[in-house]
Amino acid sequence: MSTQPYIAKQLREVVSKQVQHRCGYCLAQERVVGTPMEIDHIIPQSLGGPTEEDNLWLACSLCNDYKGNQVAGLDPETGDLTRLFDPRHQEWGDHFAWTESGDRIIGLTATGRATVTVLNLNRLSLVRARQAWVAVGWHPPKD
Ligand SMILES: [Zn+2]
Repeated sequence: MSTQPYIAKQLREVVSKQVQHRCGYCLAQERVVGTPMEIDHIIPQSLGGPTEEDNLWLACSLCNDYKGNQVAGLDPETGDLTRLFDPRHQEWGDHFAWTESGDRIIGLTATGRATVTVLNLNRLSLVRARQAWVAVGWHPPKD
């Protein structure tokens, strides 16, 4: 994206390998979606987040767009303002689970629920794609 700041190629490669070339939020894999993942500043640059390994992860372009400059959202269950999921310092499985059919993400915690809402992790286009991925055994990810 043109709005993405310059990030050294080497740093981009290090981060991409760490996260197995998949989105830290919806877990879509680059080789399945077919479009390059974007570098996500966990704390956005506009809020002072540095372009350093510890603040970087990968996100698919839609998750990155929905996240924008946000670091928090409302937990739909309690209405409380809650920090969004931090894919580098938190475990996905502690905050999210797949539905039995594998096509939707359930927020298990306030952080998980707020992140599902803010990033629209169950957007219809993605749910439909997951249904196709499940059918061929590419989804949900096994780790
Ligand atoms: Zn995503």
